[in-house]
Amino acid sequence: MAEIRVMVSGVGGRMGRTVMGAVMEAGDMELVGGVDPAYRRATLSELMTGAPEIEVAETVVEALAATGPDVMVDFTRPGVVMGNIRAALQERVACVVGTTGFSEEELNEVAGLCDEHGTPAVIAPNFSIGANLMMKFAEEAAALMDYAAIIEAHHENKLDAPSGTALTTAERMREARGEDFEHQQTEHFGLEGVRGGEHGGASVHSIRMSGVVANQTVLLGGPGETLKIEHITTGRECFMPGVLLAIREVRRLDGLVVGLEALLMNT
Ligand code: NAP
Repeated sequence: MAEIRVMVSGVGGRMGRTVMGAVMEAGDMELVGGVDPAYRRATLSELMTGAPEIEVAETVVEALAATGPDVMVDFTRPGVVMGNIRAALQERVACVVGTTGFSEEELNEVAGLCDEHGTPAVIAPNFSIGANLMMKFAEEAAALMDYAAIIEAHHENKLDAPSGTALTTAERMREARGEDFEHQQTEHFGLEGVRGGEHGGASVHSIRMSGVVANQTVLLGGPGETLKIEHITTGRECFMPGVLLAIREVRRLDGLVVGLEALLMNT
């Protein structure tokens, strides 16, 4: 079977480099190019030992023209990811996107572009298997317990808050429950913002500090009991089985698929 030609957008970043390594190790994939304005004129081999001697492109448009990939993987940042997706779908290149911070309008636009160009895409706020199981379990518990809180912690360089995973978890829990969680209102604040954000009655707290990769705890409360569902990430390699699965499956999909769960349930 022909190898899947993969181009990585954000190849100089923490996730981009990890994806590059995973693609290089996968027997059924070929790393054909990378984009990162911060590393233009460097070669992929300068970013990672053993990577091909291919020059890093400054823009996705440039990389698409030079490499003709089957799939673009994007781990960049909110604010640039939409331009990258538009460029790839325009060229009918399937997209696997891990960048977080999408608005509802942006997701709708990507879905429309996928349909317009007959080209599929996967956007997953979390590619780790454990985190997807955490969301599924939290969704099940949400229907049966009245109070909920989500506490997420990420490294100090994460730009968006709450994390895409935390927001997706809150949305899925609210939807599964069919009504807002109980949410006690505080009358006197000694510190502004101390109750965190709120979605559907669930409070959401975001912690940013060095030493953390990506952790999330979902707390559910009922009379006399608390349920704690915790996911701890110790390394970025936890995202790679999900990213590779999406690269393998994306071209078989119809339109935009949001989240990894639909792909996991078919394996
Ligand atoms: P990062 O280290 O900052 O990497 C992002 C890279 O993209 C940087 O090198 C950045 O360069 C580059 N970039 C900026 N504009 C670009 C453009 N137009 N085209 C191509 N590359 C561009 O961040 P990270 O930790 O790898 O995370 C990247 C994204 O993935 C974030 O949104 C994060 O929340 C998300 N993430 C998702 C998952 C998941 O499972 N879905 C897991 C982890 C992280 P500059 O530094 O010069 O801007």
